[in-house]
Amino acid sequence: MADPLDIVWSRPLPENASPSTVTVSQDAAGRWFVSLLCDDRIEQTPAVHAAIGIDAGLNSLLTLSTGEKVVNPKYERADRQALARAQRAMARKERGSANRAKARLKVARIHARITDRRRDLLHKLTTRLVRENQTIVIEDLTVRNMVTNHSLARAISDAAWRQLRTMLEYKAEWHGRNLVVVDRWFPSSKLCSTCGALAERMPLSVRSWMCRCGTTHDRDVNAARNILAEGLSVTACGGGVRPQRESSRSGQPTVKQENPRATKGIPVLQGGEDVKSATTQQ
Ligand SMILES: [Zn+2]
Repeated sequence: MADPLDIVWSRPLPENASPSTVTVSQDAAGRWFVSLLCDDRIEQTPAVHAAIGIDAGLNSLLTLSTGEKVVNPKYERADRQALARAQRAMARKERGSANRAKARLKVARIHARITDRRRDLLHKLTTRLVRENQTIVIEDLTVRNMVTNHSLARAISDAAWRQLRTMLEYKAEWHGRNLVVVDRWFPSSKLCSTCGALAERMPLSVRSWMCRCGTTHDRDVNAARNILAEGLSVTACGGGVRPQRESSRSGQPTVKQENPRATKGIPVLQGGEDVKSATTQQ
């Protein structure tokens, strides 16, 4: 035990830093972590004017209003399958047995690998998004999550989304960017981002559709554009970082004037029936 441990640094320590707090922890996969709390100066990011909307998905991890899709990495499918297999194997072992403990460690290790890789990807992504954009608009998915299924894919994707949001929140704060969170009560998938018309039905299987105005939409890109428009209209009239939930649920057209595109679809929202079907069908 006298030998020094092999240490994998997650990042270099800031220069001249003397850590004020050192935390030692061990995760479920049996790995030890040493966290060093240091004061550091945040590098100033040059001001930019770009704004971006982000749609969360299952097929693509994220879709941006620019049309860019961030797909789930290829290794993730294999990782998920391995995780599901390990979980089944663990379930077959007798409770309290040594084999069960061994199986649990295996599950924890695969889980740790998935979350590590995911965190790494999300860090790179959020750093880029914050560097390139002054305003970033995301959806508040809390409502949607209550009505969806509980598959493993869903659970991992939800966890990723929460993590993404947290990272965006503090990185936006660090770099003086605006993070706008819009709620999910407006039909981001069914609204044409070009003309504002509202499509009747939009089952999840529909990946692209053509509006009466002649525009062909990729479902997720269209949703991301609507999210951006909604976020910009909210900041234009209130300047608040977090829009009032009531504003879009009741569909008050008065606050939407900044964005004529989004306004057209809004009156349709006033019927309670439409609001309900919009959220369940997305
Ligand atoms: Zn249209």
